[in-house]
Amino acid sequence: MIEQIPAKHIVTRTKDSSWFGINYNMNIYRGCCHGCISCASRSSCYQIKEFEQVKVKENALAIIRDDLRRKVKKGVLGTGSMSDPYNPFEKELQLTRHALELADAFGFGIGIATKSTLLERDADILQSIREHSPVLCKITITTPHDELSKKVEPYAPPSSQRMELIARLSSRGLFAGILLMPVLPFLEDREEDILRLISMAGEAGARFIYPAFGMTLRDNQKEWYLDRLEELFPGDGLKSRYLKTYKNAYFCTSSRAKQLWDTFAKACEEKKILYRMSDIIPAYKRGYENTQLSLFDFP
Ligand code: SF4
Repeated sequence: MIEQIPAKHIVTRTKDSSWFGINYNMNIYRGCCHGCISCASRSSCYQIKEFEQVKVKENALAIIRDDLRRKVKKGVLGTGSMSDPYNPFEKELQLTRHALELADAFGFGIGIATKSTLLERDADILQSIREHSPVLCKITITTPHDELSKKVEPYAPPSSQRMELIARLSSRGLFAGILLMPVLPFLEDREEDILRLISMAGEAGARFIYPAFGMTLRDNQKEWYLDRLEELFPGDGLKSRYLKTYKNAYFCTSSRAKQLWDTFAKACEEKKILYRMSDIIPAYKRGYENTQLSLFDFP
């Protein structure tokens, strides 16, 4: 039985909409059981105890309904920033699904970030939202290799299944693409892997890829990550390479970042895949500018 936690509000206004044009955030769940070894939500600054144990906010749908009803301005409602809205419990609980129905009823757009193929279940509601408001599906994929994705994101579907998800969402007319982040230094930052991933994305009909060639590491998350590297890749010396290269740095950028960016940008241009935030936001909001939703442009 999933534990419930109290909440007063669930839909909160973002400070600005520079991140994918998202105007509001919504986290129905706290914690995540996908087990990604690099997960930043483990950092002590977020103070989430027992992060692997998913908890759900009590009366979530009634709170979301009231939050949305009170908003004077419509906008794009984002979900998936601190926990995956499609964790395994969602299959039965269907809270994310019903929250999308509320967004649809109240005239909000949607921006979802997930690593789960369960998102496809709700494509019908996303298609309904699309009739009046922008819809953005961000699927995180950081390696073209299933074997590696199963190691670094053990309880999420492997990369190939997520790529197939993008193909199916795209075939239903939904604006879907890839969050290529974090690209883990020494593990995922090989040029041929990035090119392979772009090629697969092109075949799947991905509209965008938004990358970060590196990762962030701090306090609790850092120890967890480095210990998992030792466990998963014994004898590779990855932990000591990280410590030697990055010491106590927060931003751990791949030493190949500049070269990777050049190669990445060129390959995306060739395949007509968007990769700059300044292109992605207007592309998925196109066609809604002259509706009620100059609202979708507010800062
Ligand atoms: S899916 Fe996201 S929130 Fe869940 S463990 Fe992985 S990185 Fe963390």
